[in-house]
Amino acid sequence: MALHQTIETHNQDIEDVYSTDASQRRLPKYRLPEHSTAASAAYNLVRDELLLDGNSRQNLATFCTTWVEPEVQKLMADALDKNMIDKDEYPQTAEIENRCVHIIADLWHAPKSWDTIGCSTTGSSEAAMLGGLALKWAWKKRREALGLPTDKPNFVCGPVQICWKKFARYFDVEMREVPLRGDALGLQPQDLRDYCDENTIGVVATLGVTFTGIYEPVAALAQALDALQRDLGLDIPIHVDAASGGFVAPFIQREVEWDFAVERVKSINASGHKYGLAPLGVGWVVWRSKVDLPEDLIFYVDYLGGNMATFALNFSRPGGEIIAQYYNFLRLGREGYTRIQQACSDTAQWLAQELACIGPLELVYDGQGGLPAVCYKLKDGVDHGFTLYDLSERVRMRGWQIASYPLPSDRQTVVVQRVLVRHGVSRDLIALLLQDLRTGIDFLQRNPVLHSTAGPTFSHGAEAAPALQLSA
Ligand SMILES: *Cc1c(COP(=O)(O)O)cnc(C)c1O
Repeated sequence: MALHQTIETHNQDIEDVYSTDASQRRLPKYRLPEHSTAASAAYNLVRDELLLDGNSRQNLATFCTTWVEPEVQKLMADALDKNMIDKDEYPQTAEIENRCVHIIADLWHAPKSWDTIGCSTTGSSEAAMLGGLALKWAWKKRREALGLPTDKPNFVCGPVQICWKKFARYFDVEMREVPLRGDALGLQPQDLRDYCDENTIGVVATLGVTFTGIYEPVAALAQALDALQRDLGLDIPIHVDAASGGFVAPFIQREVEWDFAVERVKSINASGHKYGLAPLGVGWVVWRSKVDLPEDLIFYVDYLGGNMATFALNFSRPGGEIIAQYYNFLRLGREGYTRIQQACSDTAQWLAQELACIGPLELVYDGQGGLPAVCYKLKDGVDHGFTLYDLSERVRMRGWQIASYPLPSDRQTVVVQRVLVRHGVSRDLIALLLQDLRTGIDFLQRNPVLHSTAGPTFSHGAEAAPALQLSA
C-alpha cells in the first residue's frame, strides 16, 4: 500500500473499527478510562463482549419475554425519552398506563373494573411489595381501631418466589411458608387453619408456582378461609401472585376461578414482561376496588404543575414497556393472546408426552392445567449414573439453558428440571431440544459421571448458592 494512502486512511472517522487504537488494546474494566473512544469503536467493543452472554431464545429457564415484534422494538426506541412518572409532560403515556390498569382489571373480573385502582411497576417483585404493603396497612388499621397490638404481622403462603422473602425481610412481616406435604406441589386449603391467626395480614396464593408451573387452588383456599371466618371470626384477605398465570389463565383456562371473581381476592400482581408479552421492565398490581388500597400509602405530589397520586417504590421509570404492553393489548386482543398461549401450552404438553417415553425420566408436571411448562425428575430408586445437573450441563453445550434445582421446603431431596415454553418457542425448536436431551441422556448413560461437580443451575427463588439467587 502506498505511503500516502496509509496516512490518509489513518483517520478515526473512516478507519476500520478493528484497527482503531481502542480495539488493539485491552480496555480498563473497573475504572473510568482517561480518554474518549469513537462511538462506533466503543459500540462494537461493547456489543462483542455481549456475545458471551449466550442466546436468550434458547434459555428455557426464563419466564421473561425474549421475542418481540419489530413494531415493539420501534415503539421502545420512540419512547426512549418518556418518563412515566412525569404525567404532566407525557399525559398520553399516563393515560395509556391507566387504560392498561383497567383492561387488566377487567380481564381479572374486578367488579367495577372502570373504577378500580392499580399501577404499573418494574416487575412482579415491586408489584408484590405494593400488594403486601397494602395488606399490612389494612390489617394495621383494623387492629388499631380495635386497640389491639400491631407488632407481629405475618403472611401465609406455599412455595413462593424470592420476592416474598424480600417483602418479609424488608418490611418486617413474618413469612409462614407452609411446607409441601406428601405429593403436594403448592399450598393446600387444609393447611391454612394451622398457620393463620389474628396477626395474619393475608394469604398469598401463587398462580404459576415458579418451581413447577402449577396453579395453587385459589377458590378452594378462599373457601377454607370462609370456613375460618365462620368458626373463628378471622377475615383474612388473599393476594394472588399471578406473575405468569395472570396472562395465561384468562385466555386458555377460563374455567379456573382464581381472580376477583373470588370475593376474598383483594389484589393481584402479574409480570407484563412474562406471559404479558411486553419487553422487560413492566409489572402490574391491581386492587379489587379502591377501598382495598389504604389511602395513607398513596402520595400526592405537586409535580410540574399537576397534582398526582403515586404509589410505587421508584419515581422515574421508562414509559416504553408500558406503551409496548398497550400495543400488545391492541394488536393481539383476546383472540391473539389466546392463540399464542394455547400454542405454547400445546407444545408444552407435547413435550411432556415425549419426555414421558424417555426411560429414566418421570413427569412432575405435565403442562396441563397450569403454565405452559414441563417439570420432571429422574425416576426414584435407581442409580442412573448421572444427575439432572449433569444433563443440564450436557445440553448447555448446544446452547440450551434448562433450570435444574431441588424442590423447596420439605421436598429438597427431589431435584427437578423445568422447561418453560413461551412466545417464540416453537414446536420445532422444542423438537430440536428434545433430540439434544435424548442424545445427552444416552451419552451420560454410556459415560456415567463418577464425581459430578454440576450443581443447581438457576434458583428462581430457591435457597441456593448466593450468587445464583440473583438470577431471575
Ligand atoms: C417471576 C416471578 C416473580 C418476580 O417477578 P419479576 O417480574 O421478575 O420481578 C414473582 N412471583 C412469581 C410467581 C414469579 O414467577
